[in-house]
Amino acid sequence: MGVLAVSGVPGASTLIYYGLHNLQHRGQEGGGIITFDEQGEPHSYRGQGLLSEIFTNGELDHLPGNMGIGSVKYANASKGGLNNVEPLYFRHHSGDFAIAGEGNLINARQVSEYLERHGAIFQTDTDSELLASLIKKGNAEDRIVTIVKALNMIEGGFTFVIMTRSRIYACRDKYGIKPLCIGKLGDGYVVSSESCAFEIMGAEFIRDVEPGEIVTLDHHGMRSTLYSHFNRHRMCAMEYIYFARPDSDIDGCNVHAYRKEAGRRLYRECPVEADMVVGVPESSLSAAMGYAEESGIPYEMGLVKHKYVGRTFIEPVQSVRELGVKMKLSPVRSIVKGKRIVLVDDSIVRGTTSLKIVKLLRDAGATEVHVRIASPMMRFTCHYGVDTSTPEELLCSHRTLEEACKVLGADSLGYLSPESTRDSCFGCADPCQACFTGEYPTLLYDESVEND
Ligand code: SF4
Repeated sequence: MGVLAVSGVPGASTLIYYGLHNLQHRGQEGGGIITFDEQGEPHSYRGQGLLSEIFTNGELDHLPGNMGIGSVKYANASKGGLNNVEPLYFRHHSGDFAIAGEGNLINARQVSEYLERHGAIFQTDTDSELLASLIKKGNAEDRIVTIVKALNMIEGGFTFVIMTRSRIYACRDKYGIKPLCIGKLGDGYVVSSESCAFEIMGAEFIRDVEPGEIVTLDHHGMRSTLYSHFNRHRMCAMEYIYFARPDSDIDGCNVHAYRKEAGRRLYRECPVEADMVVGVPESSLSAAMGYAEESGIPYEMGLVKHKYVGRTFIEPVQSVRELGVKMKLSPVRSIVKGKRIVLVDDSIVRGTTSLKIVKLLRDAGATEVHVRIASPMMRFTCHYGVDTSTPEELLCSHRTLEEACKVLGADSLGYLSPESTRDSCFGCADPCQACFTGEYPTLLYDESVEND
């Protein structure tokens, strides 16, 4: 999921719309925008699908105002439907407000039970509604006080943008697991999950929201409040490895630079003799460049991604879906035929796609396919909102390296170490790697999981 906010800039909804386009890779299942106009009246539009499918008939013209928040949503099975598309709008006698969030509260069940015992009734499955209910409990206290208290009752990896009639609050979890940054645009400010949104909005990056920080934006400017003095820089490693766009900077580290460094280290840890390095488009290309640069093996475009195969084309028709990876990738036959290939990918979850890509390359005439993964073996579930499947489904949760290699049908298989995964950040962060190592940066509230 991705969130975005604009404060003090005319035409906020159009800016948010374009900014959200640059966050579309973080969620394709739904999106929306809420603005407050100059009279303090709210205006909202939400829908399911891609932004280009939601905003089709001049809806932005009906979202006036110089402040607003927006969101793109990734839906997992339990949290789908228009009802769960954010931002959400809440009415309250102390002042109405809107919220959009990303991530996951690990104590969501405990918080919702507590709130239900105090009379709350929920209409969505979102963490944003839980936070809104906690904020509402603060009644007539200063809004910032109620937000501080509410944030201190939740645990997990999250970011929220909260908008009242007069200001926007940008909040980041105290562990620093999820990214959020601030930019300057004219006399106002913008907030985004990733800095890549600033380019299209014409905004200038100022800084990241710090772990445990609330940044308040209004006509007075920008102010900082720490809601927790316990704070860590445990950015999700998968943001660097896979999710984020290569043109984003997260906690001081450029994503492309991270991936290229991971590729260099991958060669040093898992060298192999081959004729060419081939990256799996798009998120693995930076790592493949790094591997090629360090090894001296030429980088080649052995796979081409089909640009115009969209979600709507692939998913509804079973007969088309069965074509699987062939609908998304093609091997460049004349390039790979008769060659020994190092296939660099960013990560392996279930292994089903990797298995098919290895077969594609072999069928196209590659004599050897050596798979190199620019992250460690994924063995554990993520509790912070990333859909990494159940442990049983993960290729490596119950297999050795040799067994995983056999499943993929590769000539050899190599993974980056957790140490190099950390050090590829150039010292900017000690990222969360719990899905690789099982060492979670927070306590876990799920009784089925043992806490340290
Ligand atoms: S467990 Fe994995 S996917 Fe989840 S936050 Fe940590 S690194 Fe990211």
